[in-house]
Amino acid sequence: MRIAFIGLGNMGAPMAINLVRAGHDVAGFDLVPAALEHARSGGVPITADAAAAVAGADVVLTMLPSGEHVLDAYRNGLIAAAAPHTLFIDSSTIDVADARAARDLVVAAGHRAIDAPVSGGVVGAEAGTLTFMVGAEGDDFATAEPILTVMGGRVVHCGGSGAGQAAKVCNNMILGVSMIAVCEAFVLGEKLGLTHEALFDVASAASGQCWALTTNCPVPGPVPASPANRDYQPGFAGALMAKDLGLALKAVEATGVAAELGPLAASIYQRFADEGGAGKDFSAIINIIRQNSEKAA
Ligand code: NAD
Repeated sequence: MRIAFIGLGNMGAPMAINLVRAGHDVAGFDLVPAALEHARSGGVPITADAAAAVAGADVVLTMLPSGEHVLDAYRNGLIAAAAPHTLFIDSSTIDVADARAARDLVVAAGHRAIDAPVSGGVVGAEAGTLTFMVGAEGDDFATAEPILTVMGGRVVHCGGSGAGQAAKVCNNMILGVSMIAVCEAFVLGEKLGLTHEALFDVASAASGQCWALTTNCPVPGPVPASPANRDYQPGFAGALMAKDLGLALKAVEATGVAAELGPLAASIYQRFADEGGAGKDFSAIINIIRQNSEKAA
C-alpha cells in the first residue's frame, strides 16, 4: 500500500514510523520543519509538499490538530491531488459534523473516506497499541482495517460516517467527568483524614473503580506509572482534555441532550487549561480542587 501521511506531530510521526516499519510505502508531509525532521529520522520518506505525498497514494491519512485544519487541508490540495477512488482516513479528533462534512467533500470528488480517531496517546502511538474508533460506510472499513491494525491494538467499527468521532467524544466525556469525581473524592478523603492508599485500596476494588482511578490515579503512590508521580507531566494534557470536552459540549448542544455533568466538566477543564494547566496532565485538576478547598475553608 502507498500511504500519504499528512500531519507528523506528536501522534502522527510515531504512527507513520510504525507504518514504515511494517513495510508500507509511506510518503509524509507536515508544515513544520522540526516535525518533518523527527519523522525523517524515524525512517519516514518526506515529500516537498502535501500534493507530492498524495500523488499515487492508495490511502491518505491525516493526523491534524482540529476539524478546521482537516477541512482546509482537504479543500486546499489533498482532494485535488488524489487519484480517483483514494481512501481518506482522518484520525484527528474533530467534531462529528466536521467529520461528516469532510467525508461529503471527499465522496463528491469521487473518493472514499472514513473517520478513525484514536485513544492511547503518544505512548500508544509509539507502541502501536492505539484504539481506533471507526466510522465507515460500505466496504471502506475492510480496506482500512489492515492499515489501522499496524498502528493499533484494537480497531472498532462503530458505525457509519461520523460514528468514530461520536464514540471518541462520548468516551472522553466519561473520562473528563470521572477524573473530576475521582479528584474530588481524594480531596474529600484528605479532609476526612483518610490516607490515599486506604481510599485507593477500597475504591479500586469497589463500585468507584474506573480508569481515572486505577490507571491515571491523580495522587502519587498507589499507581506508580501515573502522571501524578512525575509532577503531572502528561500523559494526556489538560489542553487536549479541554479540546475534547469542547467537542462533547458542541455535540450535547447540537443534539439537545439534557446532560449537566459533561458541560460542567467542559467549563472546569477550559478554566484549568487557561490558568496554567494546558501542558500538565489532566489529572492535575486535583491541585485546583485542593486550592479552591483551602480558599473556601
Ligand atoms: P500536534 O499538534 O503535535 O500535530 C499536528 C501536526 O499537524 C503538526 O505537526 C502541524 O504542523 C501539522 N499540520 C497542521 N496543518 C497541517 C497541514 N495543512 N498540512 C500538514 N501538516 C499540518 O498534535 P497531536 O498531538 O499529534 O494530535 C493530532 C490529533 O490527534 C489531534 O486532533 C488530537 O486531538 C488527537 N489526539 C491526540 C492525542 C495525544 O495524546 N497527543 C491522543 C489522542 C488523539
